[in-house]
Amino acid sequence: MYDSFKRKINYLRISVTDRCNFRCTYCMPAEGVPMMSHNDVLSFDEIVEFTRLAVSKGIDKVRITGGEPLVRKGIVSLVKMLADIDGIKDLSMTTNGAFLPKFADDLKNVGLNRVNISLDSMDPKRFHEITRLGKLEDVLNGIDAAEKVGLLPIKLNCVIKENSQEEDALAVKAFAEERGFQVRFIHQMSLGEGSFSVVEGGEGGHCGTCNRLRLSADGKLFPCLFSDIGYSIRELGGEEALKKAIENKPKSGTTSIGHEFYNIGG
Ligand code: SAM
Ligand code: SF4
Repeated sequence: MYDSFKRKINYLRISVTDRCNFRCTYCMPAEGVPMMSHNDVLSFDEIVEFTRLAVSKGIDKVRITGGEPLVRKGIVSLVKMLADIDGIKDLSMTTNGAFLPKFADDLKNVGLNRVNISLDSMDPKRFHEITRLGKLEDVLNGIDAAEKVGLLPIKLNCVIKENSQEEDALAVKAFAEERGFQVRFIHQMSLGEGSFSVVEGGEGGHCGTCNRLRLSADGKLFPCLFSDIGYSIRELGGEEALKKAIENKPKSGTTSIGHEFYNIGG
């Protein structure tokens, strides 16, 4: 699929829940957020049916995100259903990693290729301050589990405030180098203020080569993180939503007042 600016669109990011076991300060308020009702959240069949359609049109890279994807009940079955779709070359997940000790083995067995794990600090106290509910030890155990079962290459997502020379960022970088993981530094953004920036070590933020579409947990297909344009796959049907999202993918992002990271998945 090519959009109106001749960009090849081959990457679908699917948010499977807006719920999370953490409350990262830059992502969610401390008390959490009003959750989508169960009826609004896409079923596994709806997610898989839409993904199959998108793959038939040229999507070959799929990432599962959230919220925290590993809190979605039955996530291993969903990953299996997605992995069984012919034509996906790269099936990955972005996770905070805390539940990987429990799920890594099963995820690998049903066909997940690799994981990106969010890690902002190597200091247990700072880590807890940032995530509010998270324990660094759980995430480090999650990283070990992912490595052990071969969910490789492991990439670490590290949110930075000013630059990648901050103390926390340097410590994450040192850890990544020691263990042979890649690290991507993501500037803390505000979608409403349109403060978006490129991802150091990753592909995000380069509008000219953006190849992505995003499906929210309640079934809206968004062509751009920094725009409120979105098309409901339930209301329009997958085919029409896909066509409209491709046709109307903006040349570059501006602001989004409707998106938050926990509901669009980053
Ligand atoms: N819960 C999973 C996790 O944390 O990896 C997946 C969803 S999370 C919304 C996806 C990514 O978005 C994470 O790497 C997170 O650090 C990043 N993120 C969340 N809020 C952000 C913000 N305000 N600015 C930049 N990145 C953000
Ligand atoms: Fe949860 Fe991920 Fe948002 Fe942190 S960044 S609150 S782990 S969804």
